[in-house]
Amino acid sequence: MSLRRVFVSLGSNLDDRADLLRHGREAMAALPGTRFVAASRIYQTAPQDLEDQPPFLNQVVCLETDLAPRQVLRHLQQIEAAAGRRRTVRFGPRTLDLDILLIEGFSSDSEQLTVPHPRLWRRAFVLAPLADLWWLARDMPDEDVGALARALSREQSVEVYVGSERQGAGGHGAAQAELRRLADERHAVVLAHNYQRAEVQDAADFVGDSLELARKAAATDAEVILFCGVHFMAETAVILSPQKTVLMPDPRAGCPMANMVTPEGLLALKAEHPGAAVVAYVNTSAAVKAETDVCCTSANAVEIVRRFPRDQPIIFVPDRNLGDYVARQLGRELILWDGYCHVHDSMRAADVRALMSRHPGARVMAHPECRREVLDLADAVLSTSGMLRYPSGEQADEYIVCTETGLLHRLGQLYPHAAFHPITRQAICPNMKITTLDSAIEALRDGLNEVVVPPRIRERALQAVQRMVEG
Ligand code: SF4
Repeated sequence: MSLRRVFVSLGSNLDDRADLLRHGREAMAALPGTRFVAASRIYQTAPQDLEDQPPFLNQVVCLETDLAPRQVLRHLQQIEAAAGRRRTVRFGPRTLDLDILLIEGFSSDSEQLTVPHPRLWRRAFVLAPLADLWWLARDMPDEDVGALARALSREQSVEVYVGSERQGAGGHGAAQAELRRLADERHAVVLAHNYQRAEVQDAADFVGDSLELARKAAATDAEVILFCGVHFMAETAVILSPQKTVLMPDPRAGCPMANMVTPEGLLALKAEHPGAAVVAYVNTSAAVKAETDVCCTSANAVEIVRRFPRDQPIIFVPDRNLGDYVARQLGRELILWDGYCHVHDSMRAADVRALMSRHPGARVMAHPECRREVLDLADAVLSTSGMLRYPSGEQADEYIVCTETGLLHRLGQLYPHAAFHPITRQAICPNMKITTLDSAIEALRDGLNEVVVPPRIRERALQAVQRMVEG
């Protein structure tokens, strides 16, 4: 029997509300014929209709089930009852509130079950967590859930909750609230890379990989972009959106790999290979991008290179490991620059094997910036966003993660039922971690560290970056 995806919201505002949500998740994961796919971040919400009560915690989960919709409803009611749900006042305090929001390929308007949920599109406390999981939606209403959630979240006081241990970033609430307040005041959008500190990720408007952040930077209507990442990412935002002010929390946040290739070095290599096209990983300076035919990220490098005729020589800069991976995937030779990411290049097959023997059955996810010896052991070679999605389609409970440890925060939020083992706790990029909430607040408050790309370079780099974003 085919499994339907079901989105369910959880809410509670009693003292042990985080535990109640955990109990609800675990009970749903144990339903017959049901697979727990993923969970959103937990959000804290001021009470809406009856204000004299504690704030709520809300979350959305995605399940896959062969249960009929009314069976799902009955099971959820049983879970609520077992959690001691009492509802003496409408919109009043809740032990555990479970609501079916959406069911794949199903709608109903009966008294017992209304799907989609009738108040879904008006409630930020439902839309904000649903937006975290909207990439899992199949055969669901065609709505821009992210835009709806953002529009409503500010007026309805919905924020990521950082109080629980699992959410990982406790104790930063005041600084996060200040950053959010400043972002509102300055009409700014806060973009954060998947490797940023957990507390920075949780305060951002969008968290993603280089490609997703570049697309967000191009699409946003905010006047200011606060880029919590490294320098080449902020430059890419300037290239795509020159009319916006792009700020960085800390100007020292560079990428050592991007610094390994200079425009002069690239021009010299081009001179050695006349007629060769240049594909540059996005981890390059704007000046290098200006000498490039097309940029790529780890998410689309194979597809970008595949578009070139097979007899077209291609120079690939700067990551030798990503270039080697692309060449092997496509069965063609590339002219590789000898650059590398020190975080990924230091990972070793022996470390992966040691973890595999400690966790038999764990799936191995590796970033293509890793060496060939590591990639050869991986079940899946993925960009960071690919890694965030991969477990949603797997049955495994354990994963070995071969990338920077910042990704573990989102993985833990999305898949609270699974265990994620970093290849090493030392897989930390100091340049990514240099950004703090304090530096982000200072930069936004005082308009510090504006990233500038000279117009002549910007114009020459634009086409290569646009091809990456569109590709
Ligand atoms: S993780 Fe590697 S590629 Fe990413 S910013 Fe750090 S050094 Fe550069």
